[in-house]
Amino acid sequence: MRRSKDEASSAVPLDTVAEYQRRRRRATRLGAPFLVLAICCALGLVVVFNVEMGSGELRVNLSILLVIVAVVSWIAHVYIEGKYNRCPNCEHVPMNAAGDVPVDPVNCPRCGARLREYGSLFF
Ligand SMILES: [Zn+2]
Repeated sequence: MRRSKDEASSAVPLDTVAEYQRRRRRATRLGAPFLVLAICCALGLVVVFNVEMGSGELRVNLSILLVIVAVVSWIAHVYIEGKYNRCPNCEHVPMNAAGDVPVDPVNCPRCGARLREYGSLFF
Protein backbone atom coordinates (compact mmCIF):
# COMPACT_ATOMS: atom_id res chain seq x y z
CA MET A 1 0.00 0.00 0.00
CA ARG A 2 1.21 3.45 -0.87
CA ARG A 3 -1.13 5.58 1.18
CA SER A 4 0.33 8.15 3.54
CA LYS A 5 -0.71 8.10 7.18
CA ASP A 6 -2.70 11.33 6.79
CA GLU A 7 -4.63 9.97 3.87
CA ALA A 8 -5.44 6.77 5.74
CA SER A 9 -6.76 8.53 8.83
CA SER A 10 -8.64 11.47 7.30
CA ALA A 11 -10.07 10.33 3.95
CA VAL A 12 -11.15 6.96 5.40
CA PRO A 13 -11.02 4.97 2.18
CA LEU A 14 -12.66 1.55 2.47
CA ASP A 15 -9.80 -0.78 3.36
CA THR A 16 -11.57 -4.04 2.57
CA VAL A 17 -8.72 -6.20 3.88
CA ALA A 18 -8.58 -4.58 7.34
CA GLU A 19 -12.35 -4.31 7.63
CA TYR A 20 -12.99 -7.89 6.50
CA GLN A 21 -10.32 -9.24 8.84
CA ARG A 22 -11.91 -7.31 11.72
CA ARG A 23 -15.33 -8.73 10.85
CA ARG A 24 -13.99 -12.26 10.43
CA ARG A 25 -12.25 -12.16 13.83
CA ARG A 26 -15.46 -10.90 15.43
CA ALA A 27 -17.50 -13.68 13.79
CA THR A 28 -15.00 -16.27 15.00
CA ARG A 29 -14.86 -14.84 18.52
CA LEU A 30 -18.65 -14.86 18.85
CA GLY A 31 -19.46 -17.97 16.80
CA ALA A 32 -16.70 -20.41 17.69
CA PRO A 33 -18.02 -21.20 21.22
CA PHE A 34 -21.32 -22.35 19.68
CA LEU A 35 -19.49 -24.48 17.14
CA VAL A 36 -17.42 -26.07 19.93
CA LEU A 37 -20.59 -26.68 21.95
CA ALA A 38 -22.29 -28.34 18.95
CA ILE A 39 -19.28 -30.60 18.41
CA CYS A 40 -19.17 -31.49 22.11
CA CYS A 41 -22.86 -32.44 22.01
CA ALA A 42 -22.24 -34.64 18.96
CA LEU A 43 -19.39 -36.34 20.79
CA GLY A 44 -21.64 -36.67 23.84
CA LEU A 45 -24.21 -38.47 21.69
CA VAL A 46 -21.56 -40.95 20.58
CA VAL A 47 -20.73 -41.59 24.24
CA VAL A 48 -24.40 -41.97 25.24
CA PHE A 49 -24.96 -44.53 22.48
CA ASN A 50 -21.82 -46.53 23.22
CA VAL A 51 -21.34 -46.51 26.99
CA GLU A 52 -23.52 -48.60 29.26
CA MET A 53 -24.89 -46.25 31.88
CA GLY A 54 -28.13 -45.43 33.61
CA SER A 55 -31.57 -46.52 32.51
CA GLY A 56 -32.84 -46.56 28.95
CA GLU A 57 -35.11 -43.65 29.73
CA LEU A 58 -32.19 -41.56 31.00
CA ARG A 59 -30.23 -42.27 27.84
CA VAL A 60 -33.15 -41.32 25.60
CA ASN A 61 -33.74 -38.08 27.50
CA LEU A 62 -30.03 -37.26 27.48
CA SER A 63 -29.88 -37.96 23.74
CA ILE A 64 -32.82 -35.66 23.05
CA LEU A 65 -31.25 -32.93 25.16
CA LEU A 66 -27.90 -33.27 23.38
CA VAL A 67 -29.54 -33.17 19.93
CA ILE A 68 -31.54 -30.05 20.85
CA VAL A 69 -28.49 -28.24 22.26
CA ALA A 70 -26.36 -29.29 19.26
CA VAL A 71 -28.94 -28.06 16.75
CA VAL A 72 -29.51 -24.76 18.58
CA SER A 73 -25.74 -24.21 18.89
CA TRP A 74 -25.22 -24.96 15.22
CA ILE A 75 -27.99 -22.54 14.23
CA ALA A 76 -26.46 -19.86 16.50
CA HIS A 77 -23.04 -20.44 14.90
CA VAL A 78 -24.43 -20.18 11.36
CA TYR A 79 -26.46 -17.09 12.29
CA ILE A 80 -23.43 -15.32 13.79
CA GLU A 81 -21.25 -16.21 10.80
CA GLY A 82 -23.92 -14.94 8.44
CA LYS A 83 -24.35 -11.73 10.39
CA TYR A 84 -20.70 -10.75 10.88
CA ASN A 85 -18.65 -12.64 8.27
CA ARG A 86 -19.52 -10.39 5.33
CA CYS A 87 -17.54 -8.75 2.56
CA PRO A 88 -17.21 -5.00 3.35
CA ASN A 89 -17.55 -4.18 -0.34
CA CYS A 90 -20.74 -6.01 -1.33
CA GLU A 91 -22.07 -6.98 2.14
CA HIS A 92 -22.57 -10.63 1.13
CA VAL A 93 -21.19 -13.67 2.92
CA PRO A 94 -18.07 -14.70 0.93
CA MET A 95 -19.47 -18.05 -0.17
CA ASN A 96 -17.95 -19.96 -3.05
CA ALA A 97 -19.85 -21.71 -5.86
CA ALA A 98 -20.02 -24.94 -3.84
CA GLY A 99 -21.83 -23.11 -1.02
CA ASP A 100 -18.86 -23.26 1.35
CA VAL A 101 -17.57 -20.26 3.28
CA PRO A 102 -13.75 -20.33 3.13
CA VAL A 103 -12.01 -19.72 6.46
CA ASP A 104 -9.95 -16.79 5.20
CA PRO A 105 -10.51 -16.09 1.48
CA VAL A 106 -8.09 -13.91 -0.49
CA ASN A 107 -10.89 -12.38 -2.56
CA CYS A 108 -14.64 -12.09 -2.24
CA PRO A 109 -16.06 -14.79 -4.56
CA ARG A 110 -18.99 -12.49 -5.38
CA CYS A 111 -17.45 -9.07 -6.07
CA GLY A 112 -13.73 -9.89 -6.18
CA ALA A 113 -12.75 -7.39 -3.47
CA ARG A 114 -9.49 -8.20 -1.73
CA LEU A 115 -10.22 -9.67 1.71
CA ARG A 116 -6.76 -10.73 2.87
CA GLU A 117 -3.15 -9.98 2.07
CA TYR A 118 -1.43 -12.88 0.38
CA GLY A 119 0.40 -15.17 2.76
CA SER A 120 -1.38 -14.12 5.92
CA LEU A 121 -3.59 -17.16 6.39
CA PHE A 122 -4.88 -17.22 9.99
CA PHE A 123 -2.21 -14.89 11.41
ZN1 LIG B 1 -17.83 -8.86 -1.99
